[in-house]
Amino acid sequence: MKNEDIGTRLSEIFESIQGEGILVGVRQLFLRFCGCNLNCYYCDTIKESDFCVNHTNGEVIKNPISLGYIQKVIDSAKVHSVSFTGGEPLLHADFIKKINKSKPFYLESNMSLPENAKKLKFFDFVAGDLKVRESGVKNYEKLLENTFRCFKILRNRRNRLTFCKIVLPSEFDLEEVKNSAMQIKDYVVCFVLQPVFGSRLEKIFKLQKEMMEFADVRVIPQVHKLIGVR
Ligand code: SF4
Repeated sequence: MKNEDIGTRLSEIFESIQGEGILVGVRQLFLRFCGCNLNCYYCDTIKESDFCVNHTNGEVIKNPISLGYIQKVIDSAKVHSVSFTGGEPLLHADFIKKINKSKPFYLESNMSLPENAKKLKFFDFVAGDLKVRESGVKNYEKLLENTFRCFKILRNRRNRLTFCKIVLPSEFDLEEVKNSAMQIKDYVVCFVLQPVFGSRLEKIFKLQKEMMEFADVRVIPQVHKLIGVR
Protein backbone atom coordinates (compact mmCIF):
# COMPACT_ATOMS: atom_id res chain seq x y z
CA MET A 1 0.00 0.00 0.00
CA LYS A 2 1.37 3.45 -0.94
CA ASN A 3 1.56 6.09 1.82
CA GLU A 4 -1.03 8.29 0.01
CA ASP A 5 -3.58 5.44 0.20
CA ILE A 6 -3.53 5.28 4.00
CA GLY A 7 -6.56 7.00 5.49
CA THR A 8 -7.94 8.37 8.73
CA ARG A 9 -11.20 9.85 9.99
CA LEU A 10 -11.58 13.60 10.50
CA SER A 11 -14.72 15.60 11.22
CA GLU A 12 -13.38 18.97 10.09
CA ILE A 13 -10.41 20.97 8.87
CA PHE A 14 -10.29 24.72 9.46
CA GLU A 15 -8.05 27.69 10.16
CA SER A 16 -8.55 29.84 13.22
CA ILE A 17 -6.73 31.18 16.23
CA GLN A 18 -5.77 28.89 19.08
CA GLY A 19 -8.34 29.70 21.77
CA GLU A 20 -6.89 27.85 24.76
CA GLY A 21 -3.71 27.69 26.78
CA ILE A 22 -0.43 29.57 26.58
CA LEU A 23 -0.34 29.88 22.79
CA VAL A 24 -3.70 31.62 22.71
CA GLY A 25 -4.06 33.83 19.64
CA VAL A 26 -1.61 32.13 17.27
CA ARG A 27 -3.02 31.19 13.87
CA GLN A 28 -3.35 27.45 13.37
CA LEU A 29 -4.62 24.89 10.92
CA PHE A 30 -6.90 22.58 12.93
CA LEU A 31 -7.31 18.91 12.07
CA ARG A 32 -10.20 17.59 14.15
CA PHE A 33 -9.99 13.80 14.42
CA CYS A 34 -13.02 11.56 15.01
CA GLY A 35 -13.44 9.36 18.07
CA CYS A 36 -12.55 9.63 21.74
CA ASN A 37 -11.93 6.99 24.40
CA LEU A 38 -13.29 9.22 27.22
CA ASN A 39 -16.67 10.78 27.88
CA CYS A 40 -16.37 14.07 29.78
CA TYR A 41 -19.73 15.53 30.81
CA TYR A 42 -18.87 18.96 29.34
CA CYS A 43 -17.74 17.60 25.96
CA ASP A 44 -19.07 19.64 23.02
CA THR A 45 -17.14 17.81 20.29
CA ILE A 46 -18.79 15.85 17.49
CA LYS A 47 -16.88 12.59 17.83
CA GLU A 48 -18.03 10.66 14.77
CA SER A 49 -18.79 11.71 11.22
CA ASP A 50 -18.97 9.99 7.84
CA PHE A 51 -17.79 13.20 6.22
CA CYS A 52 -15.10 15.78 6.85
CA VAL A 53 -15.78 19.44 6.06
CA ASN A 54 -12.68 21.29 4.90
CA HIS A 55 -13.60 24.88 5.75
CA THR A 56 -10.42 26.22 4.16
CA ASN A 57 -11.82 25.53 0.67
CA GLY A 58 -15.44 24.44 1.22
CA GLU A 59 -14.88 20.78 0.24
CA VAL A 60 -16.83 17.95 1.87
CA ILE A 61 -14.84 14.71 1.78
CA LYS A 62 -16.01 11.19 2.64
CA ASN A 63 -14.06 9.46 5.41
CA PRO A 64 -11.50 7.97 5.53
CA ILE A 65 -9.30 10.79 4.24
CA SER A 66 -6.02 9.95 2.56
CA LEU A 67 -2.59 10.86 3.85
CA GLY A 68 -1.88 12.59 0.54
CA TYR A 69 -4.87 14.92 0.95
CA ILE A 70 -3.94 15.89 4.50
CA GLN A 71 -0.30 16.41 3.55
CA LYS A 72 -1.31 18.86 0.79
CA VAL A 73 -3.56 20.82 3.16
CA ILE A 74 -0.76 21.07 5.73
CA ASP A 75 1.91 22.00 3.19
CA SER A 76 -0.15 24.84 1.69
CA ALA A 77 -1.37 26.40 4.98
CA LYS A 78 0.20 29.69 6.07
CA VAL A 79 -0.04 29.28 9.82
CA HIS A 80 2.03 29.29 13.00
CA SER A 81 1.41 25.57 13.53
CA VAL A 82 -0.91 22.64 12.88
CA SER A 83 -3.18 21.62 15.74
CA PHE A 84 -4.06 17.93 15.98
CA THR A 85 -7.25 17.89 18.01
CA GLY A 86 -10.36 15.82 18.44
CA GLY A 87 -11.89 13.76 19.65
CA GLU A 88 -8.61 12.20 20.70
CA PRO A 89 -5.74 12.44 18.17
CA LEU A 90 -3.61 9.86 20.03
CA LEU A 91 -6.10 7.23 18.77
CA HIS A 92 -4.71 8.06 15.29
CA ALA A 93 -1.02 8.07 16.24
CA ASP A 94 -0.05 5.41 13.67
CA PHE A 95 -1.48 7.59 10.92
CA ILE A 96 -0.15 10.91 12.26
CA LYS A 97 3.43 9.70 12.52
CA LYS A 98 3.44 9.17 8.73
CA ILE A 99 2.75 12.87 8.01
CA ASN A 100 5.75 14.93 6.94
CA LYS A 101 6.18 17.72 9.52
CA SER A 102 6.51 20.63 7.09
CA LYS A 103 5.58 23.11 9.86
CA PRO A 104 5.38 22.93 13.67
CA PHE A 105 2.95 20.34 15.08
CA TYR A 106 0.76 21.02 18.14
CA LEU A 107 -0.97 18.16 19.99
CA GLU A 108 -4.17 18.63 22.01
CA SER A 109 -4.65 15.40 23.96
CA ASN A 110 -6.53 13.91 26.88
CA MET A 111 -3.24 12.18 27.82
CA SER A 112 -4.79 8.76 28.43
CA LEU A 113 -2.88 6.60 25.91
CA PRO A 114 0.82 6.37 26.84
CA GLU A 115 1.74 3.68 24.30
CA ASN A 116 0.44 5.92 21.50
CA ALA A 117 2.07 9.00 23.02
CA LYS A 118 5.46 7.31 22.48
CA LYS A 119 4.81 7.48 18.71
CA LEU A 120 4.41 11.29 18.68
CA LYS A 121 7.54 12.44 20.46
CA PHE A 122 8.43 14.57 17.41
CA PHE A 123 5.67 17.11 18.17
CA ASP A 124 6.77 20.68 18.93
CA PHE A 125 3.93 21.64 21.29
CA VAL A 126 1.84 19.52 23.66
CA ALA A 127 -1.29 20.83 25.36
CA GLY A 128 -2.13 17.90 27.63
CA ASP A 129 -5.15 17.48 29.88
CA LEU A 130 -5.19 16.54 33.51
CA LYS A 131 -8.81 15.47 33.98
CA VAL A 132 -10.52 16.09 37.31
CA ARG A 133 -12.65 13.35 38.87
CA GLU A 134 -15.72 15.58 38.43
CA SER A 135 -15.38 15.46 34.62
CA GLY A 136 -17.26 12.16 34.92
CA VAL A 137 -14.79 9.82 33.18
CA LYS A 138 -14.83 6.12 34.12
CA ASN A 139 -11.89 4.28 35.82
CA TYR A 140 -10.48 7.55 37.12
CA GLU A 141 -7.50 6.01 38.99
CA LYS A 142 -6.34 4.21 35.85
CA LEU A 143 -6.76 7.40 33.82
CA LEU A 144 -4.59 9.32 36.28
CA GLU A 145 -1.87 6.70 36.10
CA ASN A 146 -1.90 6.87 32.29
CA THR A 147 -1.90 10.67 32.38
CA PHE A 148 1.24 10.76 34.54
CA ARG A 149 2.92 8.36 32.10
CA CYS A 150 1.89 10.42 29.06
CA PHE A 151 3.31 13.62 30.56
CA LYS A 152 6.56 11.86 31.35
CA ILE A 153 6.82 10.60 27.75
CA LEU A 154 5.90 13.96 26.16
CA ARG A 155 7.54 16.16 28.79
CA ASN A 156 8.69 19.71 28.23
CA ARG A 157 12.21 19.87 26.83
CA ARG A 158 14.50 22.06 24.74
CA ASN A 159 12.69 21.29 21.45
CA ARG A 160 9.18 20.67 22.80
CA LEU A 161 6.90 23.01 24.76
CA THR A 162 4.56 21.01 26.99
CA PHE A 163 1.98 22.49 29.30
CA CYS A 164 -0.89 20.99 31.27
CA LYS A 165 -4.49 22.15 30.95
CA ILE A 166 -6.95 21.45 33.76
CA VAL A 167 -10.61 22.04 32.86
CA LEU A 168 -12.46 22.95 36.06
CA PRO A 169 -16.17 23.02 36.87
CA SER A 170 -17.43 25.16 39.82
CA GLU A 171 -17.04 22.25 42.23
CA PHE A 172 -13.98 19.99 42.37
CA ASP A 173 -11.68 18.37 44.95
CA LEU A 174 -8.97 21.01 45.36
CA GLU A 175 -6.56 18.76 47.30
CA GLU A 176 -6.87 15.94 44.78
CA VAL A 177 -6.17 18.26 41.83
CA LYS A 178 -3.19 19.80 43.63
CA ASN A 179 -1.71 16.37 44.48
CA SER A 180 -2.14 15.16 40.88
CA ALA A 181 -0.52 18.33 39.54
CA MET A 182 2.45 17.72 41.87
CA GLN A 183 3.03 14.39 40.08
CA ILE A 184 3.57 16.11 36.72
CA LYS A 185 5.04 19.49 37.69
CA ASP A 186 8.53 18.51 36.50
CA TYR A 187 7.26 17.55 33.04
CA VAL A 188 5.48 20.82 32.11
CA VAL A 189 6.42 24.44 31.60
CA CYS A 190 3.25 25.58 33.37
CA PHE A 191 -0.35 24.73 34.26
CA VAL A 192 -3.41 26.38 32.73
CA LEU A 193 -6.61 26.34 34.79
CA GLN A 194 -9.49 26.58 32.33
CA PRO A 195 -12.96 27.16 33.79
CA VAL A 196 -15.82 25.17 32.25
CA PHE A 197 -17.75 27.91 30.43
CA GLY A 198 -19.94 29.68 33.01
CA SER A 199 -18.24 28.21 36.11
CA ARG A 200 -17.68 30.26 39.27
CA LEU A 201 -14.07 31.32 39.65
CA GLU A 202 -13.48 31.69 43.44
CA LYS A 203 -12.27 28.14 44.00
CA ILE A 204 -10.22 28.19 40.79
CA PHE A 205 -8.35 31.29 42.00
CA LYS A 206 -7.78 29.56 45.35
CA LEU A 207 -6.30 26.54 43.55
CA GLN A 208 -4.07 28.82 41.49
CA LYS A 209 -2.71 30.44 44.63
CA GLU A 210 -1.97 27.09 46.30
CA MET A 211 -0.39 25.56 43.18
CA MET A 212 1.88 28.60 42.78
CA GLU A 213 3.93 27.15 45.64
CA PHE A 214 5.35 24.63 43.16
CA ALA A 215 4.54 25.80 39.59
CA ASP A 216 3.69 28.60 37.18
CA VAL A 217 -0.13 28.55 37.07
CA ARG A 218 -2.37 30.67 34.83
CA VAL A 219 -6.16 31.01 34.67
CA ILE A 220 -7.10 31.25 30.97
CA PRO A 221 -10.70 30.82 29.69
CA GLN A 222 -11.59 29.60 26.20
CA VAL A 223 -10.88 32.84 24.32
CA HIS A 224 -12.38 31.67 21.01
CA LYS A 225 -15.77 31.30 22.72
CA LEU A 226 -15.48 34.79 24.25
CA ILE A 227 -14.92 36.39 20.86
CA GLY A 228 -17.34 34.09 19.02
CA VAL A 229 -15.08 32.26 16.58
CA ARG A 230 -14.66 28.55 15.88
S1 SF4 B 1 -11.35 14.02 26.24
FE1 SF4 B 1 -12.02 15.79 24.99
S2 SF4 B 1 -13.06 14.90 23.20
FE2 SF4 B 1 -12.86 13.27 24.74
S3 SF4 B 1 -14.82 13.32 25.84
FE3 SF4 B 1 -13.37 14.59 27.01
S4 SF4 B 1 -13.70 16.71 26.23
FE4 SF4 B 1 -14.63 15.27 24.73
